[in-house]
Amino acid sequence: MTTRTPLIAGNWKMYKTGPEAVAAAQSLRDLTAGVVDVDVMIAPAFTALAATAGALEGSMIAVGAQNLHWESEGAYTGEISPGMIRTAGCRYVIIGHSERRQLFGETDQTVNRKVKAALSAGLIPILCIGETEAEREAEQTFSVLDKQVRLGLEGVSLQTPGDIVIAYEPVWAIGTGKTATREQAQEAHAFIRELLGKLYGEGMAEVTRILYGGSVKPDNIAALIHMADIDGALVGGASLEPETFARIMRLGE
Ligand code: PEP
Repeated sequence: MTTRTPLIAGNWKMYKTGPEAVAAAQSLRDLTAGVVDVDVMIAPAFTALAATAGALEGSMIAVGAQNLHWESEGAYTGEISPGMIRTAGCRYVIIGHSERRQLFGETDQTVNRKVKAALSAGLIPILCIGETEAEREAEQTFSVLDKQVRLGLEGVSLQTPGDIVIAYEPVWAIGTGKTATREQAQEAHAFIRELLGKLYGEGMAEVTRILYGGSVKPDNIAALIHMADIDGALVGGASLEPETFARIMRLGE
């Protein structure tokens, strides 16, 4: 276990209406009794952000958005600004999730703009990176991660510990039931931390949390979290059911 406080983050994707999100958040709130030394975040759909944040006020569970636009306002039909997300009660925002990159044309350049906008608005970006199965098979994992980190953080200055969170999510492990082995994940996380050290200095790299994402479940979180450079998880499917997510929050205990 590292000295960095683990972060367990749930990505609810396009599931749960407002009332469903509030009900799940209330259950989670009850289930966090006795959970210590772990930070927890859930990211409901935009329509449920404010109500969920209200239901979790005063609890240990923070709320995050799943995306944002980089402009502060304007004629951008269908988009949501960083300030709107902040005002809805969010502390975090997921940026560059592989579903956004693959299905909605996000690039390292748009991801970079979003990271900067999030930081300017006082939000903590969770920057998602990860290779596809074809890239892993072609032994391009490290070059893909190197490019995604360098371009995603281009021109970004990190001032204080916790300014940003990185989520390593191998695309082939998301929603597939295939988890990277803990050794594969650790190898990627160590590479990312070393790169952060080159970009921001070892001190900043040491305090920056790097989450693993990809079919995390109550029965594999303990093995993952014990690896030196794995500081928590970004959880999709297994975050939807409160009892299951609570077991992950308890790091599989
Ligand atoms: C995710 O969507 O970020 C994710 C990791 O999904 P799952 O846990 O379902 O693989």
